This record gives sequence, structure tokens and C-alpha cells, in this order.
Amino acid sequence: MTAPETMTPAEPNVACNYNPLPVVIAEASGVWMTDVEGNRYLDCLAGYSALNFGHGHPALLAAAREQLERVTLTSRAFHNDRLSPFCRDLAALAGKDLVLPMNTGAEAVETALKVARKWGYEVKGIPADRANIVVAEDNFHGRTTTIVGFSNDATARDGFGPFTPGFRAVPHGDIAALEAAIDEHTAAVLIEPIQGEAGVRLPPAGYLRQVRELCTRSGVLFIADEIQSGLGRTGTTFACDHEDVVPDMYVLGKALGGGIVPVSAVIADHDVLDVIQPGNHGSTFGGNPLAAAVGHAVVGLLETGEYQNRARTLGERLNSELQELVGKGASEVRVRGLWAGVDIDPELMTGREACEELAARGVLAKDTHGSTVRLSPPLTIEEADLAWMLGQFRAVVTGE
Ligand SMILES: *Cc1c(COP(=O)(O)O)cnc(C)c1O
Repeated sequence: MTAPETMTPAEPNVACNYNPLPVVIAEASGVWMTDVEGNRYLDCLAGYSALNFGHGHPALLAAAREQLERVTLTSRAFHNDRLSPFCRDLAALAGKDLVLPMNTGAEAVETALKVARKWGYEVKGIPADRANIVVAEDNFHGRTTTIVGFSNDATARDGFGPFTPGFRAVPHGDIAALEAAIDEHTAAVLIEPIQGEAGVRLPPAGYLRQVRELCTRSGVLFIADEIQSGLGRTGTTFACDHEDVVPDMYVLGKALGGGIVPVSAVIADHDVLDVIQPGNHGSTFGGNPLAAAVGHAVVGLLETGEYQNRARTLGERLNSELQELVGKGASEVRVRGLWAGVDIDPELMTGREACEELAARGVLAKDTHGSTVRLSPPLTIEEADLAWMLGQFRAVVTGE
């Protein structure tokens, strides 16, 4: 099947920038999605973790409905009564002073890069236009021209140059390489604590702590892109929490909008975010009252700790059952909380084929980088549904 043939029946007028599984979803509730023919599927992608709280979580729907009737957009030319309470509670959740609200993840990453550069010039004293930012190889931070410019994924990058200068990449998890890349003109280190799109790749234990120490010692900002790893997914509020590490800037998105509206944010203390003054940066929709109302409700869910706990306890089961598949169709399994990357033995099938077989069995998941299947069900999943899903997954991977 070529991509255009796959797309034509369902989406004849949709640009071909995705190659979706041949399933047309019409409705969803909780962890279940229903297609136009009435077939049900367990959602094991959860909108790339944008749906950590499942489809149509009652508290999030209520917040959205109530706000829809009041006011949805003011622009930041005026105050709205939703933004400040949202930012107060999100900042408190992250243990920081300030929140800069945006919409998509890529915008929030761009925001963090701009903040880091300006901080580099105004606070650190880097000579004009000389700042560099160190990133990790195999990163995924979004799709803008600047961001794809420091990606090493040819599909994401080729054909889109020329690119923004000022970035250097080192292997993720290699502290010596990171140390060697930092010089007196380095403003920041930007990493995903766990690389999601790369296939749920976990750095060696202690790496995040070493990055924190190195950044502190070198006078460099540590920016953690927790757009996919944050907000409960790994069993803690942030993936950095696993090593008790606090970055200088958190970048959040995806689940922050509850799967209802795009909401992203950069979170930092005054000494960093105060470099942004009126006119330096903005967004027409960033911080709109509808987004703030939903984001505030998301923060409310996370304040209970319930979802982090679910991810942690159910994640133990996910891990132990998936690890049993190593050598029985899977070559490697990486799990943190309710987030798994399973490398399928390429001699048996591709990741895409595994996902097609899973779909036929009522489980929707997404392959990445050829042979990896990523599993990230909503954190609201019941243990019985998780067990059922693992049974389907085992059958596909082992061929039994
Ligand atoms: C999804 C993602 C982004 C980009 O978010 P968009 O909302 O798609 O722009 C950035 N960083 C990470 C780690 C992501 O997973």
C-alpha cells in the first residue's frame, strides 16, 4: 500500500503529511474509540500522550463547556479572568515562579530557545549573536524550521533548509560528550528526559542528575522538554522527578490541553523568564480563556497525584508483561510508567505491520523508526483493559 492509496478513500483533500492506519474514528470515550462502522479500539497512543486523562474526561469537559459559554478568546491585549489562576497553579505544580503560555509544543520549544538566547546575552553576557544551544541527537522537539534544523532525522529535515545556526548535537545519555560540547558561549542544554519519538529511549540512570550538575557548574540553562514525558505519563508529574532533578525551564504541551484544545507552556523562575518583556514574544491564542480553563482543570487532576500513581502501579504490570516478550518476538523493551517502547524483531515484521495486526485485534498503537511500537494508553485505563491489551499485544508479537 502506498501512502496516497491509503489516504484516498478517507481523506481525498487532505495533504499527505501523515500515513494513518486505515481506521476512521467517529467517537471516543475514556480509553475506547469507535470507528464509523461501529468497531471499538483501545487507544494505546492517546494522542501521543495528549490524552493522558482519556477521551472526554468529565472534569475537563465540564471546564471546557462552562468556559465556552462565557468567553473563549480575548487576546493578551486585555486580561482574562482564567489565565492568572491557571498559571498560579501550574507554576506551583512545577515549583517555579512564572508560566509563559503558548499553544502547541513546537511553539513552546521555540519560546524556550528564544528565552535561553536572550538570557544568554543579557544575563550571562554572551557576545551578540554568538550564543549556542546544545541538543541531543535523535531528538524530537517539533516541526518548525528552527527545530527541524537541529534534528538528525532526514525525513523531518531534508528539503527544509537553510536552517537556524547556533545548535550542536551530542548523543543522548553521554555526559562526557555534553561536557565537551559546552563552551563559554553556551546558553542552554535542551533535552527530552526520555526521548519519546525516538522510541521511548531512557538515558542511563543518573544522567539527568549529571546534566543538572554540569549545567549549574557551567552557568548554562537546563531546558527539559517534558511535552510528552511530563504530566503523569512516567508515574511522576515530570520525568525529571525520577532523579529529583529540577531543570531551569520546563517545556510542556500535549496533555496540558486535556486532548481538547492545544495548550503549551514554558515554566521557569523570574531570573530566567524576566528577560521576556512586552513586545518580545507572544501569540494570538496563547493563554486564551478556554485554554486556560481546560489547562487549569488538568492541573487540578494532577494535584491529586492519582494519575501519577496509576501510571506508576499499572506501569509495573506493563513492564513485567512486556519484558517477558524479549526473545519471543521483541528484541528490546523500555518502560517508564505507562509508556513503553517495544522493538519488534525486524525479521518477524515491521512496527507498522505489528500496528496493523493490533488494529485488527482492537488495539490502536503507533510505530516509530521502523521497528519500534510505542504504547502509551491513557492513564485512566482500568487494569482489566490493560491486561486485555497486553494479551492482544503478546499474540501479535509472539505470533501465537
Ligand atoms: C509532540 C512533541 C513536541 C511538539 O509538539 P506539537 O504540539 O506537535 O508542536 C515537542 N517535543 C516533544 C518531546 C514532543 O513529544
